[in-house]
Amino acid sequence: MSSTNTKPRIAFFDFTCCEGCQLTVADALQTHFDLLGAVEIVNFREMISEKSDDYSIAFVEGSCTRTKDEVRLKAIRDHAQILVALGACAHIGGVNAIRAGLDVAGVRRYVYGERAMLIETDSILPIDAVVPVDAYIPGCPIDREEFVRTVKALLLGRVPILPDYPVCIECKIKENVCLYTIDKACLGPITRAGCGAICPMSGIGCEGCRGMISNPNIQSLKDVFSENGFDEKTLVETMTIFLSYQMMESEL
Ligand code: SF4
Ligand code: SF4
Ligand code: SF4
Repeated sequence: MSSTNTKPRIAFFDFTCCEGCQLTVADALQTHFDLLGAVEIVNFREMISEKSDDYSIAFVEGSCTRTKDEVRLKAIRDHAQILVALGACAHIGGVNAIRAGLDVAGVRRYVYGERAMLIETDSILPIDAVVPVDAYIPGCPIDREEFVRTVKALLLGRVPILPDYPVCIECKIKENVCLYTIDKACLGPITRAGCGAICPMSGIGCEGCRGMISNPNIQSLKDVFSENGFDEKTLVETMTIFLSYQMMESEL
């Protein structure tokens, strides 16, 4: 039954993930009462027990790993006018995709041992491999302020455009010393900006949680790795953390 409340009704759903992005949303809402007052939240397992199929904006966290996930995701898509991928697991498969391209039965045995056949799990898919997605909030976890900006834009009828330039740009704007000069590896040259280069600014190499830019120069990154004494195995291992699905899809 439709609500008489005229506020936009928003809903949150989770698939295979750690639910850290929804926790980040809950945290963001504690300091953005304006946003909380502008919408009606009708599904949010971490915050409310009520549930409704009457919503206009759906935020989906997590990857699809089972056939029944795809069925459920398609039903959510049917109900929502706007569907948003929330976090790296939904956006690019995230850490779930570490096993992309591996033998699923073997991975299942390795993780679950004798109980392997009781656990249903199949290929890892980001949600846009199953349904059309209108907007993305990348990251592991998402950035609080990017979530707030995205919701405000959607409420104004705009779809936020993600930066399509690398983390290195933000790192340089902040006049950070490049980590390669202190013998640390970093995926900043191929990773989508928008996080403010938070990891390199803290002395930690970017692991690519926001996904690759649309035209990553992998050969150039390989050269940078090699010139700085890192072997190809290290490059592959570093990229595998978040970028496995994108690498598999791009045949990198
Ligand atoms: S993107 Fe990261 S924080 Fe968000 S649900 Fe996935 S693993 Fe958790
Ligand atoms: S530290 Fe990383 S993000 Fe910063 S300039 Fe160097 S490679 Fe780019
Ligand atoms: S620096 Fe890289 S790993 Fe860190 S938050 Fe930004 S995109 Fe993610």
